[in-house]
Amino acid sequence: MNIFEMAQIPFNQAVEAMKLDQGVRDIIANPERTLEVSIPVNMDDGSVKVFTGYRSQHSTILGPAKGGVRYHQNVSMDEVKTLAFWMTCKCAVAGLPYGGGKGGIIVDPSKLSLREKEALTRGFIDKIAPIIGEKKDIPAPDMNTNAQVMGWMMDEYSKLTGQFEPGFITGKAIIVGGSLGRTAATGRGVVVAALEALKLKGIAPAEATAAVQGFGNVGSWTAKLFCDEGVKVVALSDINGAIYNADGFDCYKVDEYVQKTGSVVGYPGSKEISNAELLSLPVTVLAPCAMELQITAENADKVQAQIISEGANGPTTPEADEILAKKGVLVVPDILANGGGVTVSYFEWVQNLYRYFWTEEDVIERQNALMRSAFKEVVAAAEKYGVHMRVAAYIVALSRLIEAMKIRGIIH
Ligand code: NAD
Repeated sequence: MNIFEMAQIPFNQAVEAMKLDQGVRDIIANPERTLEVSIPVNMDDGSVKVFTGYRSQHSTILGPAKGGVRYHQNVSMDEVKTLAFWMTCKCAVAGLPYGGGKGGIIVDPSKLSLREKEALTRGFIDKIAPIIGEKKDIPAPDMNTNAQVMGWMMDEYSKLTGQFEPGFITGKAIIVGGSLGRTAATGRGVVVAALEALKLKGIAPAEATAAVQGFGNVGSWTAKLFCDEGVKVVALSDINGAIYNADGFDCYKVDEYVQKTGSVVGYPGSKEISNAELLSLPVTVLAPCAMELQITAENADKVQAQIISEGANGPTTPEADEILAKKGVLVVPDILANGGGVTVSYFEWVQNLYRYFWTEEDVIERQNALMRSAFKEVVAAAEKYGVHMRVAAYIVALSRLIEAMKIRGIIH
């Protein structure tokens, strides 16, 4: 099963639980608009190469489309459409005034020089300019794109419109309108989700232990913020392997070690374990923050955690969901638990629109409030419909979309 098939299953379960008409289902199952563009780039060797890019706007029912742009050789129109659908659901669950979008260019960026990458980025913006803008569709970073790429995109779009356009894109450097608190935001959301789940189970953070899979942006911040909350982080991992310490890690020190060595493996005082062992440790919280398809029908039965807070997109397969639900594991799904990143992107956009910037404390406080409220709504939907939290998160998203479609007269 790939992540595209995976996305359909909880969506269909939510559609059934809500007894939605086929017509409503069809509106939500199809993107409003998908643009394919050809981008010619003058390469450093004197040749001209034409790249293919896409921008899909799945929904603008609740607000402008919102979602990242990825540069990868495996990008396809189907992938971009599915990821745009996911963004619609993620923004709707978080209660943000956004629809969902996604973009991508079929390219291996490691094969481009910096100049070629900038030319490709500017060419992409030139081609998608008619459908983007701060009130239409707001791109952001995704796989292999970063604050530098966002800076080029903002510059190109500002040239095209003849005005300073920070609000058309998020994930920017602070100096050109980025938000404080964005780097840690996704990890912070994973931790907020886990803390709410602990509360639901009546477990104090100081009594809880955690295992975090992945130590990149999401995983390292999840681990560090767990430490700040007094949760004992006993296991960490990355692509090279996993480490364990029953007494808990100082995750800030582990981060310093990773900055120096490039991996968590070999951290002083740790015992080496496998990534598979990390997933089945008897911890209170497991936070998969690496990549998709990690907890599957093959290993779900071995999971001993009481709570899973999903930092990665799609780390648990639908078969695993059923096994975990039967075991009583509380899974806080990706579209809720990792929505912290897009939530702070929303704050960046708001700050850009009124040209006034908040302190990091403001950002954190507002993020925590939005995420706690989203968590409560999903729990309420799970109870009302008798479904697990992933399906409940889709129900919350679909309910918002349907209410807005009715008010706007798209459906009666
Ligand atoms: P990243 O590239 O910074 O980090 C990924 C980490 O996972 C690295 O430490 C890598 O070594 C590790 N890893 C890769 N394969 C692994 C494996 N098989 N076992 C254990 N560790 C492995 O990426 P990121 O930005 O932290 O994103 C991680 C996940 O979170 C992705 O699924 C991404 O789509 C999702 N996500 C990220 C954000 C964000 O704001 N960065 C927002 C929402 C969702």
